[in-house]
Amino acid sequence: TRMIVLGVSCRRSHLCAILRTPRGSHVMARPSSDLSEFRKIFSGAKKIAILTGAGVSAESGVPTFRGPGGYWRKWQAQSLATPEAFSRNPSRVWEFYHYRREVMLTKQPNPAHLAIAECEERLGRRGRQVTVITQNIDELHRRAGSRSILELHGSLFRTRCLSCGHEAPNYQSPICAALQGKGAPDPDAEDAQIPEHQLPRRCEQPGCRGLLRPAVVWFGEALDSEVLAHAEKVLDSCDLCLVVGTSSVVYPAAMFAPQVASRGVPVAEFNMEDTPATMRFRFHFHGPCGTTLPPALAPHETETD
Ligand SMILES: [Zn+2]
Repeated sequence: TRMIVLGVSCRRSHLCAILRTPRGSHVMARPSSDLSEFRKIFSGAKKIAILTGAGVSAESGVPTFRGPGGYWRKWQAQSLATPEAFSRNPSRVWEFYHYRREVMLTKQPNPAHLAIAECEERLGRRGRQVTVITQNIDELHRRAGSRSILELHGSLFRTRCLSCGHEAPNYQSPICAALQGKGAPDPDAEDAQIPEHQLPRRCEQPGCRGLLRPAVVWFGEALDSEVLAHAEKVLDSCDLCLVVGTSSVVYPAAMFAPQVASRGVPVAEFNMEDTPATMRFRFHFHGPCGTTLPPALAPHETETD
């Protein structure tokens, strides 16, 4: 069994070492899909880490720009979501992100997002922690009510100044006047070719007015080291880990979940795809996470107010 890292360069050598060392060097039994057994462990967990990926967003109808159908106009996301693409054609890249921001106004958190948020709120009242570590940039966890969220890939609704590095939340629609009505995804839509001075450049730092870019992690860029350090701290101290809507053999779960499992901590996968039997995860629940997660995270009979 080999772990696969898709489209992301890993600049942290110890993480790369984990990725290159398959944990399933001896054959393990298939993970359990016994919900009551999971619920017993869940009822005693004090620090729960929940890794989420594209599958959770896909169930809300969010286009994830992956696989063969993942095109915007005639480009794959991988060719637009790079620092090089932005410096070559900031107008086109902003059209792409403007489109994705506007699409999000029509999407809602699904039962998986809501179950996670409700669980965090409920267990939080009893001094138990739930932390979401997500690769998704759509803020659906936030909108569902989750508070403790680590966004590994940043957010569609944050900007970063190219001149001074200042980051700020930004929920404006459209993000600038020139992008109004632009960003159509059809292959024959024409580039808006917006001049740079009309692109988003509202850096709030005094006297800056620098050009803004989406504060998301692009291909070829390293993850934010503070966010990554915080995620590792959460994973090092959790006593239960859920991997939701992302395969544990692809990044980012592949980077983290084996670390957790190797400490003997139960890891439960909720995913549409099967997991290799050699993986060391305790549980696997097959199906859409909007269906499998709510009963798994519902109040346990031992929880009393
Ligand atoms: Zn600035």
